[in-house]
Amino acid sequence: MNDVAIVGGGISGLAAAYYLSRQGLSIVLVEGQRRLGGMISTDEVNGCYLEAGPDSYVANKPAVTELAKSIPGLSEQIMGSNDAARRIFVVKGGKLVPMPRGMVMMVPSEWVPALRSPLFDPGTKLRFAREFFHSRKHRREDVAIGEFVKDHFDEAMLEYVTEPLLSGVYGGDAGQLSARSVLPRFVGYEERYGSLIRGVREERRQAGAAGPLFLSFQGGMQTLVDSVARALEGRVRIVHGHARGVERQSNGNWRVYTGDAEEEAPDLVLACPAFRAAELVARMDATLADELHSIPYSSAITVMVGLRRSDVSHPLDGFGFLVPKRERRQVAACTWINTKFPVRVAPDYVVVRAFIVGRDADDLHLASDAEVVDTVRAELQRLMGIYSGVQFTTVHRWPNSMPQYTVGHAQRVRQIEEQMRNHPRLYLTGNAYDGVGIPDSVRLAKATAQRIVRAR
Ligand SMILES: Cc1cc2nc3c(=O)[nH]c(=O)nc-3n(C[C@H](O)[C@H](O)[C@H](O)COP(=O)(O)OP(=O)(O)OC[C@H]3O[C@@H](n4cnc5c(N)ncnc54)[C@H](O)[C@@H]3O)c2cc1C
Repeated sequence: MNDVAIVGGGISGLAAAYYLSRQGLSIVLVEGQRRLGGMISTDEVNGCYLEAGPDSYVANKPAVTELAKSIPGLSEQIMGSNDAARRIFVVKGGKLVPMPRGMVMMVPSEWVPALRSPLFDPGTKLRFAREFFHSRKHRREDVAIGEFVKDHFDEAMLEYVTEPLLSGVYGGDAGQLSARSVLPRFVGYEERYGSLIRGVREERRQAGAAGPLFLSFQGGMQTLVDSVARALEGRVRIVHGHARGVERQSNGNWRVYTGDAEEEAPDLVLACPAFRAAELVARMDATLADELHSIPYSSAITVMVGLRRSDVSHPLDGFGFLVPKRERRQVAACTWINTKFPVRVAPDYVVVRAFIVGRDADDLHLASDAEVVDTVRAELQRLMGIYSGVQFTTVHRWPNSMPQYTVGHAQRVRQIEEQMRNHPRLYLTGNAYDGVGIPDSVRLAKATAQRIVRAR
């Protein structure tokens, strides 16, 4: 008999299984694909580690590092991004313009680089000075990021900084996302200081020496998945099958239907995207299913291009570039792996990772890999002057993979939690609810495991 059934073998399901199994509970984990890890997947090609999905996680959220420390040998493989060379370019007028030093999201924390930057015109620079004197503000209602940014700066700051930075994380129409759910730290500055510039400067003054911004694993993010999966061996039963529905039995247990098989357990965790959880509960609770469906998702495509080093004259003097919508053809962002994570690229190669998001990704969903690669090559030509030398490419499509925390997201999640009270011992976890990155997914999975143990 299982104690807990988990649907979904991405990092959320794996982390939940890991923390539950450490409490001696017997777990069955149902994963629809043949491999574990969900969106985390690393290819190894010609000695280069190529990330199909996430390439790192933010260092200031501790959950992944804590998980890694609890698994023998894993934390030794953590490495930081090469922050000595950290610099991001933004495409403006078809050219790569460096983001000025000291930008914290859309907030300039250092005057001189921001005021000298060709990225901003005089009008935007004038807004910096005015913003510094904003008085404190408490908003009763959640607002869109577009409105929030324009309250402090101007349209250009939204178009050339905020939207492109957030596109890399959320994929969709970042201006429409919820300020409260996506930029809570900046909403907090507004409440405490009025000015975001003053908030960021104050926080920087108080903070000690900063480590790297991003962390990852030497052999790629897949190392995390493989290590957690190994730690589950002999403790957690993995069933590869697509769950089609869940139902509470008369004895109070939950049953998971996977086509021809069934699993039963007193506790059930749905660690899959919200729209998949909606499908699973639809017959049992249409209201809950509707609420879960109301969290929209955006798509992404990642394209890795490996080039002969001798064919690339570009200096790769930063982590890569962002393409604001106004300047965008299809590629929204590009990472220069040689600079961000040098150990991942074999000598003699340059590896560039392009990110296509939102409608552009949907439009290319049915295109052949060759067409997608051609699109990326055209952008590398236009923006980096790379014309030849392609040695290998990989294309990974992630349809409906990035939850969009649109205005009112926190309220939607509260309604889901309210509705979940009708289903004791059923739990939701994953990146749809309270943080879209891997550290948030692991933190939430651990919290879910703790809730289950406490309630038993
Ligand atoms: C292109 C891309 C780049 C990203 N980059 C970063 C980054 O750099 N840093 C970062 O922190 N985060 C990044 N993210 C986000 C990060 O990948 C996610 O936060 C994290 O992987 C979420 O894990 P999860 O387990 O919740 O979901 P998933 O990884 O989606 O796992 C869910 C699993 O559930 C399974 N499943 C679904 N339905 C069923 C069913 N009915 N039955 C059985 N199994 C089912 C799926 O097959 C899947 O394996 C990125 C995401 C994408 C798409």
